[in-house]
Amino acid sequence: MIIIMERNATKVQIQRVIDFLKDNDFQVRRNVGEIHTVIDAIGDKTTITPGRLAAFEGVKEVKVIREPFRLASRDRNPEDTVIEFKNGVKIGGNNKPVFMVGPCSVEADYDGLLEIATAAKEMGCEFLRGGAFKPRTSPYDFQGYGEKALQFMKRASEATGLLTVSEVMDASDLPMMLDYIDVLQIGARNVQNFKLLHAVGKCNKPVILKRGLASTIREFLLAAEHIMYNGNMQVILCERGIRSFDNAFTRNVMDIASIPVIKKYSHLPIIIDPSHGTGQRYLIEPLAKAGLVVGANGVMMEIHNDPENALSDGKQSLPLPMFKEVMTRINKFTNNLRYEEQCLSANVK
Ligand code: PEP
Ligand code: MN
Repeated sequence: MIIIMERNATKVQIQRVIDFLKDNDFQVRRNVGEIHTVIDAIGDKTTITPGRLAAFEGVKEVKVIREPFRLASRDRNPEDTVIEFKNGVKIGGNNKPVFMVGPCSVEADYDGLLEIATAAKEMGCEFLRGGAFKPRTSPYDFQGYGEKALQFMKRASEATGLLTVSEVMDASDLPMMLDYIDVLQIGARNVQNFKLLHAVGKCNKPVILKRGLASTIREFLLAAEHIMYNGNMQVILCERGIRSFDNAFTRNVMDIASIPVIKKYSHLPIIIDPSHGTGQRYLIEPLAKAGLVVGANGVMMEIHNDPENALSDGKQSLPLPMFKEVMTRINKFTNNLRYEEQCLSANVK
């Protein structure tokens, strides 16, 4: 840590900070500049936090050299995290990107879900996604079919061999959900629901953590840290766009740069969700490709057998014939890209 003292900090104030640090086993060096005294301090920041030092009289600013997300940071863990699923599918590192596709919400019609899952399997996707508990802006919108939807997901998984992803909104649902699905999703609206993060942190299941509507990259990585701190290291980050001032043509602003930035600062796998990132069907393919170019380890996309009658997010869901065309092109693109992509991700580390 570097503690910058105010221009007019008194000798007593400076000495109080130094004594406090020394009493707490920090190694301290005082640098007296022309205007400011700057104190370098090396020690354990778990109890003596920058915020605590900032409260001392005469302290202007406290700067931290290491990022506060310890477990998620590449500084401490330089190797990419690779998560392996029960059927041998791997995500992260130099493994080929994975595809997680499915409806926004699992609906009442199992045959529809099976049709979606069969198309996903046919196109080489590894995961079926589908919401059972839906975080909706309005209480009047469809809230999800809960456990029945998860039963459908499990049946579709058994029929196709796909792994399954579904969002958890309440920690009390976790024991039930763990029986049905392979990956837990924390949605954008719950990225700072710390009790929920702690609860999934205590589970032995991979977690997809979505970036919050207004999360900074640092806050996003600290949310991952909450899960990891509780013991679960199997975290997959998901960039799904952020709120900004311009929503005239897109639902969110797809922050493509966050992907290589996060890969530089964290070893965790990261996927892109252009469906929620843009809210527009026609933008899914180009943004999925853009995400893959900058090193995404996978893509999440919403697809539907009957988007016009979907209970949520029909507008951004690819109808199955379009999905098959898009996926054919993305698969070709991915194969060509793999070499370049590996070079790119190697460069940002
Ligand atoms: C979803 O994946 O269906 C979803 C609700 O996404 P987000 O949390 O990113 O809005
Ligand atoms: Mn959705």
